[in-house]
Amino acid sequence: MTAVSHQAMVDPPTYRDLLSAAVPRIRVALRDAVSGSADTPWLDAVVMMRHASGQSQERLIAAMSDPVDACCAQRFESLVELRCAGLPVSYVIGKKEFYGRDFRVTTDVLVPRPDTETLVEVILDLHRGVGPTHIHDACTGSGCVAITVAAETEWAVTASDVSAAAIAVAEENAVQLLAPGRRPRFFRSDLLTELPDALVRLGIGAPTIVSANPPYLTDTEYGELVRRQWPEPALALRGGTDGVDAYTRLAGQALSCLAPHGYLVVEIGSSQGPRVRALLESAGFVDVETVTDLGGRDRVCVGRRP
Ligand code: GLN
Repeated sequence: MTAVSHQAMVDPPTYRDLLSAAVPRIRVALRDAVSGSADTPWLDAVVMMRHASGQSQERLIAAMSDPVDACCAQRFESLVELRCAGLPVSYVIGKKEFYGRDFRVTTDVLVPRPDTETLVEVILDLHRGVGPTHIHDACTGSGCVAITVAAETEWAVTASDVSAAAIAVAEENAVQLLAPGRRPRFFRSDLLTELPDALVRLGIGAPTIVSANPPYLTDTEYGELVRRQWPEPALALRGGTDGVDAYTRLAGQALSCLAPHGYLVVEIGSSQGPRVRALLESAGFVDVETVTDLGGRDRVCVGRRP
């Protein structure tokens, strides 16, 4: 037996040892990787270690020199392997924080982005202005927008997605994050196509707000993700040649589904502001405006039904 392996048997690795060994592996494995460069290998490793050990960030930092038990080390190793194979860290650990809550994510749903918190902020600002209401969130994915709004307001919330698998994830998140009486009513729908029938079935009136983070990548942008074998669902990302197909359909559908004076609130790509504003206006919306995100980029477009 060599001195090193003897040493390893006597002294189990510490959290610092495992993290320090994982970081260069992640960096090298993902340098030309399928899902892009790993520009945050240390952060990724810490997030995975928190998941493997069940410890908070603070506890983990305080425990850096402590030995790691074999089960935790093995769990961490499996997560590192998935990350090195190119899976984004949120899919590796199966969750992502959004607006202060942890949402379960699978490859059936888009990973919630901080950008989408701007969409929530705009909706909550309308909340302060319009009082009790009913919001319908289309393209709900993990349910992050619908569930956050249900948690932050007293509104009636309905939500839909074209993907049954995404709805299953959203329903699971609602069960985890909301009291039974606050859970959105979810149903499957291609944009708002099924909304009128669903409202009759559920006995709910027309929504005063329709929100959506629809797929809005252009074919060129999406093609680049395909080249990198990006694992997020095409259904959540592909917006057609110019990325605006969903807005064209949504604007027409929302105008006939919304209650009079109701709002359509959509997330947009940062270069799509003028185009989506024009689309909403030509569909018949008034008071159309664009709202920027924390980085100063166009991120949300709002219009009101006359
Ligand atoms: N914001 C996402 C991205 O940049 C796109 C989300 C969408 O198409 N709705 O990948």
